[in-house]
Amino acid sequence: MSGSDKAAHSPIGASSAYRWMACPGSVQACKQFPSTQSKYAAEGTIAHRVAEYYLRNHKAPNGEYVGEREEEGDFVFVVNEDMEHYVEVYYDIVSYHLASTGTPWSALQVEAEISLPHIHPDAWGTCDAMFSDLRTLHVFDLKYGRGLEVESQDNPQLKYYALGAYYSLDEFHRNEIEEVVVHIVQPRVQNPHKMTTYKISELLEFETQLAAAIQKTELPPDQLTFAAGSHCKFCQAKVGCSEYRSNLNEKTNGMFEKMVGGAKPAVQEVEVSTLVSLHEMKEDIVSYLNAVSDYLLMLARSGKPPEGYRLGQHLPRVNRTWVDENDAMTTLSELGVDNITTVKLKSPSQIEKLLSKNKVLLEKVKNLWHKPPAVPVDVLVKEDSEKPPIETIDRNTLFSQYKDV
Ligand code: SF4
Repeated sequence: MSGSDKAAHSPIGASSAYRWMACPGSVQACKQFPSTQSKYAAEGTIAHRVAEYYLRNHKAPNGEYVGEREEEGDFVFVVNEDMEHYVEVYYDIVSYHLASTGTPWSALQVEAEISLPHIHPDAWGTCDAMFSDLRTLHVFDLKYGRGLEVESQDNPQLKYYALGAYYSLDEFHRNEIEEVVVHIVQPRVQNPHKMTTYKISELLEFETQLAAAIQKTELPPDQLTFAAGSHCKFCQAKVGCSEYRSNLNEKTNGMFEKMVGGAKPAVQEVEVSTLVSLHEMKEDIVSYLNAVSDYLLMLARSGKPPEGYRLGQHLPRVNRTWVDENDAMTTLSELGVDNITTVKLKSPSQIEKLLSKNKVLLEKVKNLWHKPPAVPVDVLVKEDSEKPPIETIDRNTLFSQYKDV
């Protein structure tokens, strides 16, 4: 999608379907708030870029991208070995399914735009990878995050992609397809590959639900409906959403409103001084919430978990390592495998340390390194701060149309 004048995401696209299908009012609400990209989302976009490169070139990740400096929005990342490794997990799964179905690489579509213009002109999304053999269509979605493990079963985003991928085929081919297999590949969680198979009849049923949900997003403001839930997590409108606050308040037995100093109205109607107090208390509030979570964990450890919970275990993902590096090197060499080692240049600080006693040599190499310009990130600072001022947005303009949420 880059380089086009089309938005990166449709307001009723696949990637946010989990939210707007549950809360139709959120589509119009989100238009009133500037969208911000988190560091994690930016990192995910870069991982997709790396994956796209390797899939398009039909080559398994080989360290080629490691060390590349990639920019995304306000963030800059240097691709590291971990990212290459996680992309390799995704690459392996896609290539395994191509090979096991006897499908040539040329049939693989990467970062393919899918659309459902017969439902709505804005009904579109970008599918990470897809291919079809004679009877089955495979759709892949790479999730780089690890905070929330995503399921493939009943996942509206994947069903949306599946439907779009199905309609992207010509009529003859479409008539041959019997089922669509959707794959979630989330390399940084315990179970990195999940898949669900849908019959075409199930997807056509979903199509009816999708069309009805889109219609609900376009109702006049006084008829819009809002529903809070786990889908609010990434909703940019939550800062001004009364439904979200009521839900939080209900779930915390009124603690939330007490903590925010009775800030019952939407955020744009609260005294700025109250918002500043909240902002200044942010660390205390987060620390209090962390303490609540720790206390509940302690209860569970002592055999008294809160009702509906139990003590579970999370095993962090670990990378593969050689059982014995020398042994691996000898065996690989004996088998005639080439290019098994890499030479990596030390960082400027390591070289500087190395040459710290040889000032003459140090002077000679100093111009070999530089510090790339940092990309500034907007932050709220005290007036007497020495951080440079930036252009500001008029708060009244920002919230002027946002009345009904
Ligand atoms: S924050 Fe409000 S508008 Fe956004 S999804 Fe939740 S209830 Fe809907």
